[in-house]
Amino acid sequence: MDTSASTLAAPAPRRLRIAIIGAGMAGILAAIRLKEAGTHELVVFEKADRIGGTWRENTYPGLTCDVPAHAYTYSFAPNPDWSSFLAPGPEIQRYFEDVVRRYAIAPLIRFGCAIRSCRFDDTRRLWTITDDQGRDDDFDVVIAATGVLHHPSMPALPGLGEFAGACFHSARWDHGVALDGRRIAVVGSGSTGVQIVSALAGRAARLYHIQRTPQWIMPMPNEPYSEAQRAAFRADPGLIDEIRYGEHYTGLVRRFTRAIIDADAPEMHEIETIVRDNLERSVRDPQLREALRPNYRAACKRLIYSSDYYDKIQQPDVEAVVGAIECIEPEGVRMKDGSLKEADVLVLATGFQADRFVRPIKVRGRGAADLDAQWTPSPSAYLGITLPSFPNFFMLNGPTGPVGNFSLIDIAERQWAYIEQLLAPLARAECALVELRADTLRAYDERRITAARRTIFGSGCSSWYLDATGIPASWPWTYEAFAEQTAKPQAGDYLFTA
Ligand code: NAP
Repeated sequence: MDTSASTLAAPAPRRLRIAIIGAGMAGILAAIRLKEAGTHELVVFEKADRIGGTWRENTYPGLTCDVPAHAYTYSFAPNPDWSSFLAPGPEIQRYFEDVVRRYAIAPLIRFGCAIRSCRFDDTRRLWTITDDQGRDDDFDVVIAATGVLHHPSMPALPGLGEFAGACFHSARWDHGVALDGRRIAVVGSGSTGVQIVSALAGRAARLYHIQRTPQWIMPMPNEPYSEAQRAAFRADPGLIDEIRYGEHYTGLVRRFTRAIIDADAPEMHEIETIVRDNLERSVRDPQLREALRPNYRAACKRLIYSSDYYDKIQQPDVEAVVGAIECIEPEGVRMKDGSLKEADVLVLATGFQADRFVRPIKVRGRGAADLDAQWTPSPSAYLGITLPSFPNFFMLNGPTGPVGNFSLIDIAERQWAYIEQLLAPLARAECALVELRADTLRAYDERRITAARRTIFGSGCSSWYLDATGIPASWPWTYEAFAEQTAKPQAGDYLFTA
């Protein structure tokens, strides 16, 4: 199999009709790459009226990407103008909008077009995509770039509907609700809750951070870039490359993934020492310190990066409320210990249904194979990309890919380079269908599940990393292993049907 990416750019005997679902980071990437190849007909389906995916949907105060900005950037579209080492959410949204403008992707996008189903027709060897208006369209190839953390998880708290004030999920922020001088309760202590609380401290009259489970916090300074630094980035892109590809960041990623896959690795003990020292050093009141001390290992839940959370939580106007919620009452949050945290605004930073991926879109593959059934109880995909019985159907950031404390853009770019190589024989009309072999996924899952049980994610805590059977769903090997395995598709892993 000729897998060189350049073959896609060569004059193709076959012009493929390709559907991309989602105009977030990954869908934009696929659209740019396919448009550059110039040989195929593309349609990008986007249910909203703007691009941006997670960066469009999350607009909460304090939203910041905790991956260094120069690493959370397309490799082909560096941005010398990031305002700080870690970029704020609105700036990332503007970056994607700017990239879409520069690469003239918008005309390819059908906005306001939610896809209801994708059905593969064995006879015609085409995918029929149906939108929520009932309109059908046929494609040779489907690229699902529907995101990971997309569907808000609403907590089943008794009385939630009775709350008298404003109440919304963190990913559905109501910017019409005044915050200054109000009493605000934030439920949830994941990355989102911690960022919101850090941003609202000092603004609210009273701020409650309600946490069922406290988190380990890794300090991560976030310095603004000066105009002189930005000018230097503009003049010398090598300086950007140093941040993105240099030893400091890549070494961090390497050490982190080694720690994740081997809970006894020295790298993991290093992380544990840092987060423990951070807690000891930063929280003065011994009672609060003990309340905020997690009873599980660092990085079992996604590690939280923050250099100001512990300071903010100790401000007089802020209260860390560690414990379970009994119910929501019209006046506020009733805790199991009987106390009532009175609030005007209730923010649910309660995370996402992380196992949905392409769903609720109904996907029917060869022989009417049902994606939902295949993914019950838990979803999987080879390298987070392909599935048996779903020919010419590819995912970006699908299940079992590396989601964690590093750049999902980098992961998507690697997956895209892999997909491009699988599209090449289709474009050369050497075959009509490319489909993952069932035994490839079976063998992959066997290895993956064995390795996943040994990762830090499986060391005894609950988190969105765990699938419905309690097995960590994230990539359980090193970052280098992912780079290696996605570098070149192995012909033996796939069926190529003429
Ligand atoms: P999350 O990590 O899933 O955290 C959800 C929080 O809500 C947890 O503290 C959970 O408590 C709590 N919760 C859920 N149901 C509850 C209930 N019924 N009662 C009380 N508490 C409840 O969600 P997230 O903070 O939105 O973060 C999700 C992921 O988004 C992150 O892990 C990260 O990958 C990504 N993210 C990234 C950034 C970034 O800077 N790159 C920023 C934000 C988010 P328990 O722990 O007890 O279950």
